[in-house]
Amino acid sequence: MTSSSNPTKKIKTIRSAFVNQLFNFVHKTGIIRWGRRFSANTLTVINYHRVEELNQPGFDSFLPNISADPTTFAQQMDYVARWFNVVSQKEIVKWLEGKGKLPPHAALITFDDGYLDNYTHAYPILRQHNFPAVIFLTTEHIATDVHFYWDMAAYCFFHTKHDHILFPNGKEQAWSNPTEREQVCKTWIESMKNLPDDEKQIWVNRLPEQIEVTLPLNYFRNLMLNWDQIREMQMAGIEFGGHTMHHPILSRISLQQAQDEIEGSKTRIEKELGEPVLGFAYPNGMSDDLNLQIQNLVKQAGYQVAFTLKNGPSPFHEVRSNPYAIRRIFISHRHTLPRFSVEVCWFNRFRG
Ligand SMILES: [Zn+2]
Repeated sequence: MTSSSNPTKKIKTIRSAFVNQLFNFVHKTGIIRWGRRFSANTLTVINYHRVEELNQPGFDSFLPNISADPTTFAQQMDYVARWFNVVSQKEIVKWLEGKGKLPPHAALITFDDGYLDNYTHAYPILRQHNFPAVIFLTTEHIATDVHFYWDMAAYCFFHTKHDHILFPNGKEQAWSNPTEREQVCKTWIESMKNLPDDEKQIWVNRLPEQIEVTLPLNYFRNLMLNWDQIREMQMAGIEFGGHTMHHPILSRISLQQAQDEIEGSKTRIEKELGEPVLGFAYPNGMSDDLNLQIQNLVKQAGYQVAFTLKNGPSPFHEVRSNPYAIRRIFISHRHTLPRFSVEVCWFNRFRG
């Protein structure tokens, strides 16, 4: 761990201040939008997870999963309203079927996992703009108090009296203040993603005991959406997609298990909502987390489109050539509005 007097950290702070100034400059001057007319035939899919207040005292869920606070989310939606034409997933599917056109500078707003704050914080702002959006549901977590392991881990790290932990690679990591502890927690969660799923499950299950934390009963109740809230949003034009049943990384489980996860979430949502589910979002969604076999399983399950978290907007021809690996732009609560405008810029395609 580094201290504030560490020269590497100082250089990083100076560099990030400089980069922020640069983002402010390109945002204010509008330079970022130069060349837009050459990129009109582009689909920009924006990806959120949670929309929640930051800096709540005692917040013990997983902070990196908060994409924006409600105020910033509202500013971002104003920006999207000004510079993009927001489309629904249905419109994209119709266009793929040759039955309609997509507008220039098309954007699709998406949310992963199915947290309650999508309903309490994001939905009212989406309604103000009359924006459609897609929420990808991890169905076994919906309307239950079944927690995601990252929220459970964040709780354990927040409440433990320990100051170090053993990682699956056999090395220990220690912390001496809350910032360092948060960083170790994040690294621990990342290390879980690299394990085969059954091995990950063993580490996850023994974490509370490992750092001596007792999880309060029903603590994670009301963290996720329930089906009534989902149906209410469905009536108002919000669409719902599959995000597996239990959120495994699909390349870390057998193909049979992957098929069950992919089909299971679709069947459940269709049963609850009474209409076909068109889209799927791959858990974690990076290059290592899916492959052609998994894409084929998604196609065979009857989904029409699927979304990764490979960064950047997509030219229309790219979406058409493979609708089962559409890129999305991951939004973090660290993104200021100027940074957001850079992230969703057509030029960002060349960074991804
Ligand atoms: Zn997810």
